[in-house]
Amino acid sequence: MTTPTSTTLLQTRQLQVFYGKVEALQGANITVGAGQIVTVIGPNGAGKSTMLNAIAGALPINGSSQGQVILADKELSGVAIEKRVAQGMCLVPEKRELFSTMKVEDNLLLGSYRRYQAGEKNYDDQLSVVYDLFPRLKERRHQAAGTMSGGERQMLAVGRALMAKPQLLMLDEPSLGLAPLIVKEIFHIIQRLKQTGVAILLVEQNARAALQVADYAYVLEMGEIALEGDAADLATDQRVIDTYLGLAKKAH
Ligand code: ATP
Repeated sequence: MTTPTSTTLLQTRQLQVFYGKVEALQGANITVGAGQIVTVIGPNGAGKSTMLNAIAGALPINGSSQGQVILADKELSGVAIEKRVAQGMCLVPEKRELFSTMKVEDNLLLGSYRRYQAGEKNYDDQLSVVYDLFPRLKERRHQAAGTMSGGERQMLAVGRALMAKPQLLMLDEPSLGLAPLIVKEIFHIIQRLKQTGVAILLVEQNARAALQVADYAYVLEMGEIALEGDAADLATDQRVIDTYLGLAKKAH
């Protein structure tokens, strides 16, 4: 009998990204299993956001990619961002991109727009799932998104992505700019999200917190994967401790 392994949900093969002639990602191979949390850590400018944007099909106009992105056995080269969302992936970008004058609930409903267009009118069920995960969003559902705190806006951005019922949720630096207590809450929510069955690809500079919630981790340095392994193993790897966990340790 073979040992059961997690089914592969996302795979990149030799994923390369260029901005003009500059190579920002140099042939990255990553795998995310169904229901897994996988993190990509690394310093500023390593190419973490570039990797997520290439997977999501959301590179800026001067960016181009080569290599393969495979989601649930489907190769997505040349597939537009909306179609990738329809295939089951959703990106929460670093800038969150909420509609600040619109109410919280309307921002959430926009997240289910594609499903609505496809004829699924029962978005209420998913709204309940999101409100269970984020009771604060329910309390504030009639408030304008722009009047929410930084942490609440991050929750709203994640909630809106969940309205699309993704199989793969990609989070770009969800802790960026948030106070330590809120960061703790966001990571707690990420752990709870896992229990809903969604797989998470998490890009973070907060390596300590990311390695605590993740199953598997990649270290990206200057556009290349420098290290990879089980998150628990990387958290005790001397190179990772020296480079990414040392300062954070002192700060806490
Ligand atoms: P950070 O944590 O600071 O967001 P990152 O690891 O996400 O960093 P990227 O934002 O992916 O890194 O950037 C990787 C490299 O690509 C950097 O050298 C950056 O300057 C460059 N880069 C990113 N976007 C563009 C762009 N639109 N045009 C040209 N170069 C870009």
